[in-house]
Amino acid sequence: MDSIEKLKDIFKKFPTVGQRTAGRFVYYLMKLPKEGVDELIGAIQELKNKIKLCELCFNPFEPYDNSVLCQICKNPSRNKNLLCVVEKETDLLSIENTKKYNGLYFILGGTVSLMRKEDIPILRIEELKKRIKDGNFSEIIIALNPTPEGRATSVLVENSIKEITSDVKITHLAKGIPVGGELEYADEETLESALEGRK
Ligand SMILES: [Zn+2]
Repeated sequence: MDSIEKLKDIFKKFPTVGQRTAGRFVYYLMKLPKEGVDELIGAIQELKNKIKLCELCFNPFEPYDNSVLCQICKNPSRNKNLLCVVEKETDLLSIENTKKYNGLYFILGGTVSLMRKEDIPILRIEELKKRIKDGNFSEIIIALNPTPEGRATSVLVENSIKEITSDVKITHLAKGIPVGGELEYADEETLESALEGRK
């Protein structure tokens, strides 16, 4: 495969990037001076070398000391009785952006279809159970996308929580996020009312 096609194939795997955008990226890079290319390569390597996953919530963060916890888990003013389970980092960011949530998070790492049981191991279900056992939560909000996969995963998560405790209230986001839509594309107001109306 020639180098243009090879790079295009790599870019095509990026979220939201299709054939045409991948091509534009490649031609942009071809015109970039060598220093620009070196800067890009360096930034990507730095990202891989510096970023850690938080030991409690799996949020990626850049440690400035030897900390193993992200800024959210480390923050003493966050409500440690509330846990919000999300699919991925960008969902956490969307909820943070509403500024209406002051609890902790847990990033599940994906969603699965119940039809495809082989997908289930990608989820951090065991890690979640451990987190709940170790924590002191009074409410767990399952904030997954209202897609078929999100709903199937919500059921799986809820059942897994019930296996280990019956003392915790389990809630879901209120309806309002368009059916089949995704948290990360919902506007702040919609997400805010889905969060406030959770039950
Ligand atoms: Zn964390």
